[in-house]
Amino acid sequence: MNTGVLTADKDPMGKAIYDYFTTGKAARLRVFSSQFDEDEIPVSELFRSYDQMPELEQIALQKACGRILDVGAGSGCHSLALRAMGKDSLAIDISPWAVDVMKQRGLEAAQVNLFDSHFVGQYDTILMLMNGSGIVGKLGNLPEFFQRIKQLLASGGSVLMDSSDLRYLYEDEDGSFVVNLAAGYYGEVDFRMQYKQVRGDVFDWLYVDFDTLSAYAAQYGFRVEMLSEGEHYNYLARIAW
Ligand code: SAH
Repeated sequence: MNTGVLTADKDPMGKAIYDYFTTGKAARLRVFSSQFDEDEIPVSELFRSYDQMPELEQIALQKACGRILDVGAGSGCHSLALRAMGKDSLAIDISPWAVDVMKQRGLEAAQVNLFDSHFVGQYDTILMLMNGSGIVGKLGNLPEFFQRIKQLLASGGSVLMDSSDLRYLYEDEDGSFVVNLAAGYYGEVDFRMQYKQVRGDVFDWLYVDFDTLSAYAAQYGFRVEMLSEGEHYNYLARIAW
Protein backbone atom coordinates (compact mmCIF):
# COMPACT_ATOMS: atom_id res chain seq x y z
CA MET A 1 0.00 0.00 0.00
CA ASN A 2 1.35 3.39 -0.99
CA THR A 3 1.72 5.67 2.04
CA GLY A 4 3.43 8.61 0.35
CA VAL A 5 2.24 11.99 -0.86
CA LEU A 6 2.43 13.66 -4.28
CA THR A 7 5.10 16.07 -5.44
CA ALA A 8 4.02 19.34 -7.05
CA ASP A 9 5.12 18.23 -10.54
CA LYS A 10 3.03 14.99 -10.40
CA ASP A 11 -0.21 16.46 -9.12
CA PRO A 12 -2.50 17.29 -12.06
CA MET A 13 -5.76 17.48 -10.09
CA GLY A 14 -4.17 19.64 -7.42
CA LYS A 15 -2.76 22.01 -10.04
CA ALA A 16 -6.20 22.29 -11.64
CA ILE A 17 -7.73 23.05 -8.22
CA TYR A 18 -5.02 25.66 -7.61
CA ASP A 19 -5.57 27.36 -11.00
CA TYR A 20 -9.32 27.41 -10.55
CA PHE A 21 -9.01 28.86 -7.07
CA THR A 22 -6.47 31.55 -7.99
CA THR A 23 -7.82 32.58 -11.43
CA GLY A 24 -11.46 31.45 -11.47
CA LYS A 25 -10.87 29.11 -14.39
CA ALA A 26 -8.93 25.98 -15.32
CA ALA A 27 -7.92 24.02 -18.40
CA ARG A 28 -9.23 20.50 -19.03
CA LEU A 29 -8.54 17.94 -16.32
CA ARG A 30 -8.22 14.78 -18.43
CA VAL A 31 -8.73 11.27 -17.08
CA PHE A 32 -7.32 8.15 -18.74
CA SER A 33 -7.98 4.54 -17.86
CA SER A 34 -7.08 1.17 -19.35
CA GLN A 35 -10.75 0.17 -18.87
CA PHE A 36 -12.62 3.26 -20.12
CA ASP A 37 -12.50 5.90 -22.81
CA GLU A 38 -10.82 9.19 -22.06
CA ASP A 39 -12.93 11.38 -19.80
CA GLU A 40 -12.77 14.77 -18.06
CA ILE A 41 -13.48 16.05 -14.56
CA PRO A 42 -15.16 19.49 -14.64
CA VAL A 43 -12.89 21.39 -12.24
CA SER A 44 -15.73 23.70 -11.15
CA GLU A 45 -17.51 20.66 -9.68
CA LEU A 46 -14.63 20.19 -7.26
CA PHE A 47 -15.70 23.57 -5.83
CA ARG A 48 -19.38 22.65 -5.42
CA SER A 49 -21.34 24.36 -2.67
CA TYR A 50 -23.65 22.49 -0.30
CA ASP A 51 -26.64 23.23 -2.55
CA GLN A 52 -24.79 21.90 -5.59
CA MET A 53 -23.80 18.65 -3.89
CA PRO A 54 -25.54 15.36 -4.60
CA GLU A 55 -28.04 14.40 -1.89
CA LEU A 56 -25.83 11.55 -0.66
CA GLU A 57 -23.10 14.06 0.20
CA GLN A 58 -25.57 16.41 1.88
CA ILE A 59 -26.79 13.56 4.06
CA ALA A 60 -23.20 12.67 4.98
CA LEU A 61 -22.51 16.27 6.02
CA GLN A 62 -25.68 16.37 8.11
CA LYS A 63 -24.75 13.11 9.87
CA ALA A 64 -21.12 14.10 10.47
CA CYS A 65 -20.54 15.02 14.10
CA GLY A 66 -17.89 15.55 16.75
CA ARG A 67 -14.30 15.77 15.59
CA ILE A 68 -14.35 15.15 11.81
CA LEU A 69 -11.58 13.93 9.48
CA ASP A 70 -12.23 14.85 5.83
CA VAL A 71 -10.13 12.33 3.87
CA GLY A 72 -9.04 13.14 0.32
CA ALA A 73 -10.58 16.55 0.79
CA GLY A 74 -9.58 18.09 -2.58
CA SER A 75 -10.54 21.77 -2.73
CA GLY A 76 -12.05 21.49 0.76
CA CYS A 77 -15.66 21.82 -0.39
CA HIS A 78 -17.03 19.47 2.26
CA SER A 79 -14.96 20.96 5.09
CA LEU A 80 -16.16 24.43 4.10
CA ALA A 81 -19.77 23.29 4.17
CA LEU A 82 -19.15 21.67 7.57
CA ARG A 83 -17.68 24.88 8.89
CA ALA A 84 -20.78 26.77 7.76
CA MET A 85 -22.79 24.24 9.80
CA GLY A 86 -20.62 25.01 12.83
CA LYS A 87 -18.76 21.67 12.64
CA ASP A 88 -15.01 21.24 13.04
CA SER A 89 -12.86 19.21 10.67
CA LEU A 90 -9.30 18.40 9.73
CA ALA A 91 -8.93 18.04 5.95
CA ILE A 92 -6.18 15.76 4.65
CA ASP A 93 -5.01 15.13 1.11
CA ILE A 94 -1.87 13.80 -0.61
CA SER A 95 -1.99 16.73 -3.05
CA PRO A 96 0.35 19.64 -2.19
CA TRP A 97 -1.59 22.10 -4.39
CA ALA A 98 -4.95 21.14 -2.93
CA VAL A 99 -3.65 21.47 0.64
CA ASP A 100 -2.25 24.90 -0.21
CA VAL A 101 -5.68 25.98 -1.51
CA MET A 102 -7.49 24.59 1.54
CA LYS A 103 -5.18 26.54 3.84
CA GLN A 104 -5.79 29.70 1.80
CA ARG A 105 -9.51 29.05 2.28
CA GLY A 106 -8.91 29.15 6.02
CA LEU A 107 -9.35 25.43 6.64
CA GLU A 108 -7.33 23.25 8.96
CA ALA A 109 -5.57 21.10 6.35
CA ALA A 110 -2.54 18.83 6.14
CA GLN A 111 -0.71 16.97 3.38
CA VAL A 112 -1.15 13.43 4.67
CA ASN A 113 -1.77 10.00 3.20
CA LEU A 114 -4.56 8.21 5.09
CA PHE A 115 -2.44 5.05 5.16
CA ASP A 116 0.63 6.69 6.71
CA SER A 117 0.78 5.27 10.24
CA HIS A 118 2.68 8.36 11.47
CA PHE A 119 -0.59 10.21 11.20
CA VAL A 120 -2.48 9.64 14.44
CA GLY A 121 -5.66 11.00 15.98
CA GLN A 122 -9.11 10.07 17.23
CA TYR A 123 -12.07 11.10 15.12
CA ASP A 124 -15.80 10.72 15.68
CA THR A 125 -16.50 10.91 11.96
CA ILE A 126 -14.20 10.01 9.08
CA LEU A 127 -15.64 11.43 5.87
CA MET A 128 -14.74 9.86 2.51
CA LEU A 129 -16.77 11.39 -0.33
CA MET A 130 -16.92 11.42 -4.16
CA ASN A 131 -16.50 7.68 -4.42
CA GLY A 132 -14.55 7.74 -1.18
CA SER A 133 -13.82 4.01 -1.41
CA GLY A 134 -11.54 4.89 -4.33
CA ILE A 135 -8.72 5.76 -1.95
CA VAL A 136 -8.61 2.13 -0.81
CA GLY A 137 -7.38 1.33 -4.33
CA LYS A 138 -8.01 -2.42 -4.49
CA LEU A 139 -10.22 -4.97 -2.77
CA GLY A 140 -7.08 -6.57 -1.34
CA ASN A 141 -6.32 -3.34 0.54
CA LEU A 142 -9.60 -3.46 2.50
CA PRO A 143 -8.03 -5.35 5.45
CA GLU A 144 -5.41 -2.61 5.81
CA PHE A 145 -8.12 0.02 5.48
CA PHE A 146 -10.16 -1.50 8.31
CA GLN A 147 -7.09 -1.75 10.54
CA ARG A 148 -6.28 1.87 9.77
CA ILE A 149 -9.71 3.22 10.59
CA LYS A 150 -9.72 1.21 13.82
CA GLN A 151 -6.71 3.31 14.85
CA LEU A 152 -8.30 6.61 13.84
CA LEU A 153 -11.88 6.21 15.10
CA ALA A 154 -12.81 7.40 18.57
CA SER A 155 -15.06 5.05 20.49
CA GLY A 156 -18.54 5.20 19.00
CA GLY A 157 -17.19 6.85 15.86
CA SER A 158 -17.93 5.91 12.25
CA VAL A 159 -16.80 6.30 8.67
CA LEU A 160 -19.24 7.87 6.20
CA MET A 161 -18.24 6.75 2.72
CA ASP A 162 -19.89 6.77 -0.69
CA SER A 163 -19.26 4.29 -3.47
CA SER A 164 -20.91 2.73 -6.52
CA ASP A 165 -21.63 -0.76 -7.75
CA LEU A 166 -20.11 -0.81 -11.26
CA ARG A 167 -22.08 -3.88 -12.27
CA TYR A 168 -24.32 -1.76 -14.50
CA LEU A 169 -21.35 -1.36 -16.83
CA TYR A 170 -21.28 -5.11 -17.35
CA GLU A 171 -24.98 -5.85 -17.42
CA ASP A 172 -26.63 -7.12 -20.60
CA GLU A 173 -29.88 -5.61 -21.81
CA ASP A 174 -31.72 -8.59 -20.34
CA GLY A 175 -30.19 -7.85 -16.93
CA SER A 176 -27.73 -10.74 -16.94
CA PHE A 177 -24.30 -10.05 -15.61
CA VAL A 178 -21.40 -10.62 -18.01
CA VAL A 179 -18.17 -10.18 -16.15
CA ASN A 180 -14.94 -12.10 -16.62
CA LEU A 181 -14.45 -13.66 -13.21
CA ALA A 182 -10.79 -14.40 -13.96
CA ALA A 183 -10.12 -10.69 -14.43
CA GLY A 184 -10.45 -9.85 -10.73
CA TYR A 185 -13.13 -7.80 -9.01
CA TYR A 186 -15.05 -5.65 -11.52
CA GLY A 187 -14.88 -2.53 -9.36
CA GLU A 188 -11.08 -2.29 -9.49
CA VAL A 189 -10.17 0.50 -11.88
CA ASP A 190 -6.95 2.25 -12.83
CA PHE A 191 -6.75 5.95 -13.66
CA ARG A 192 -4.19 8.48 -14.70
CA MET A 193 -4.83 12.22 -14.87
CA GLN A 194 -3.33 15.01 -16.87
CA TYR A 195 -3.70 18.78 -16.57
CA LYS A 196 -1.87 20.95 -19.11
CA GLN A 197 1.69 19.51 -19.08
CA VAL A 198 1.34 17.98 -15.60
CA ARG A 199 1.01 14.19 -15.94
CA GLY A 200 0.21 12.14 -12.87
CA ASP A 201 1.18 8.52 -12.28
CA VAL A 202 -1.28 5.66 -12.74
CA PHE A 203 -3.23 4.90 -9.57
CA ASP A 204 -5.75 2.25 -8.47
CA TRP A 205 -9.29 3.31 -7.60
CA LEU A 206 -11.84 1.01 -5.97
CA TYR A 207 -15.58 1.02 -6.58
CA VAL A 208 -17.14 -1.48 -4.19
CA ASP A 209 -20.68 -2.81 -4.05
CA PHE A 210 -22.46 -2.75 -0.70
CA ASP A 211 -22.54 -6.53 -0.16
CA THR A 212 -18.83 -7.00 -0.84
CA LEU A 213 -17.97 -4.09 1.47
CA SER A 214 -20.21 -5.53 4.20
CA ALA A 215 -18.68 -9.00 3.89
CA TYR A 216 -15.13 -7.66 4.27
CA ALA A 217 -16.16 -5.34 7.09
CA ALA A 218 -17.69 -8.21 9.07
CA GLN A 219 -14.36 -10.09 8.98
CA TYR A 220 -12.69 -7.14 10.71
CA GLY A 221 -15.39 -6.59 13.30
CA PHE A 222 -17.14 -3.70 11.55
CA ARG A 223 -20.77 -3.37 10.54
CA VAL A 224 -21.92 -1.45 7.51
CA GLU A 225 -25.25 0.30 7.25
CA MET A 226 -26.76 1.64 4.06
CA LEU A 227 -27.70 5.26 4.85
CA SER A 228 -28.96 6.21 1.42
CA GLU A 229 -29.07 4.89 -2.12
CA GLY A 230 -28.52 7.11 -5.16
CA GLU A 231 -29.93 6.77 -8.65
CA HIS A 232 -26.77 5.48 -10.30
CA TYR A 233 -26.05 2.32 -8.31
CA ASN A 234 -24.27 4.62 -5.84
CA TYR A 235 -24.81 4.65 -2.10
CA LEU A 236 -23.73 6.21 1.17
CA ALA A 237 -22.57 3.79 3.87
CA ARG A 238 -21.86 4.12 7.57
CA ILE A 239 -19.04 1.86 8.76
CA ALA A 240 -18.78 1.38 12.51
CA TRP A 241 -17.66 -1.20 15.07
N1 SAH B 1 -13.41 14.79 -1.58
C1 SAH B 1 -13.14 15.77 -2.63
C2 SAH B 1 -12.07 15.31 -3.62
C3 SAH B 1 -12.27 13.95 -4.25
S1 SAH B 1 -10.98 13.50 -5.37
C4 SAH B 1 -14.43 16.09 -3.35
O1 SAH B 1 -15.42 15.38 -3.13
O2 SAH B 1 -14.47 17.03 -4.14
C5 SAH B 1 -10.03 12.40 -4.34
C6 SAH B 1 -8.98 13.11 -3.52
O3 SAH B 1 -8.34 12.14 -2.70
C7 SAH B 1 -7.87 13.76 -4.34
O4 SAH B 1 -7.74 15.10 -3.96
C8 SAH B 1 -6.62 12.94 -3.99
O5 SAH B 1 -5.43 13.72 -3.98
C9 SAH B 1 -6.96 12.42 -2.60
N2 SAH B 1 -6.29 11.16 -2.17
C10 SAH B 1 -6.05 10.07 -2.93
N3 SAH B 1 -5.45 9.10 -2.20
C11 SAH B 1 -5.33 9.57 -0.93
C12 SAH B 1 -4.80 9.04 0.29
N4 SAH B 1 -4.28 7.79 0.34
N5 SAH B 1 -4.83 9.80 1.41
C13 SAH B 1 -5.37 11.06 1.37
N6 SAH B 1 -5.88 11.62 0.24
C14 SAH B 1 -5.86 10.90 -0.90
